[in-house]
Amino acid sequence: MKRDEVFQFFERLAEANPSPTTELESGNPYQLLVAVVLSAQATDASVNIATRPLFERIKEPQQMVDFGENRLRDAIKTIGLFNTKAKNVIALSEALIANHGSDVPRTREELQALPGVGRKTANVVLNTAFGEETFAVDTHVYRVCNRTGLAPGKTVDDVEAKLEKIVPQPFRRDAHHWLILHGRYICKARLPECWRCPVIDLCRYKPKTLPPEERVKPKAARSVIRGSSAARTATGPTASPRTAGRSRSRPSRLP
Ligand code: SF4
Repeated sequence: MKRDEVFQFFERLAEANPSPTTELESGNPYQLLVAVVLSAQATDASVNIATRPLFERIKEPQQMVDFGENRLRDAIKTIGLFNTKAKNVIALSEALIANHGSDVPRTREELQALPGVGRKTANVVLNTAFGEETFAVDTHVYRVCNRTGLAPGKTVDDVEAKLEKIVPQPFRRDAHHWLILHGRYICKARLPECWRCPVIDLCRYKPKTLPPEERVKPKAARSVIRGSSAARTATGPTASPRTAGRSRSRPSRLP
């Protein structure tokens, strides 16, 4: 994508949502860090359901350590991989107490040294808690960047490196939120909703998806086509739609 197209891409996402942020609920950087660790391979909504009551009583690492792994496991048992995540959250809380005076560190290296914290988690915390211009690449960002041609790459690291290079100001700080939200609500994995997409003319993906009212369901399409073919080929009252010529249904996507 050309430089001016990249600018327009983010300008339009920004117009649609001027103040994007994470959908994970938290009250401070520590709770955000815990929520992001819990969100690996889980939806933000499922994490929020578990953390709402948890974060009412736990706001700092020592409270989490006192709460203990067993009770934490029980509190997050609705989230995937909860056994491992409970272990990691207790271990990272202990590490924060031991090495950082209970504060969440502000560098990628220190964050990634914590149990259960990878590059993506570190990027989200640096961006959302501390306002750094980092580009966390999750499944949504990866898909949107590749589909649209914005920042194609074979790996999440490739995509992150491309985003680092191409995203202009003033969009750098919020870029990853816009991309996540765009992928979650419009450029969906199974069927991108191109007909209501603000960047449809900039996006390289083909074929674009038609609006629902213009898509013909296969079954309905068959009966419509049979009927019209029968009408064309029928020569008298004994003619049957079964004998009518075959036809293909309309494609469900724009060319
Ligand atoms: S036009 Fe379609 S494929 Fe392209 S970004 Fe929009 S929703 Fe995604």
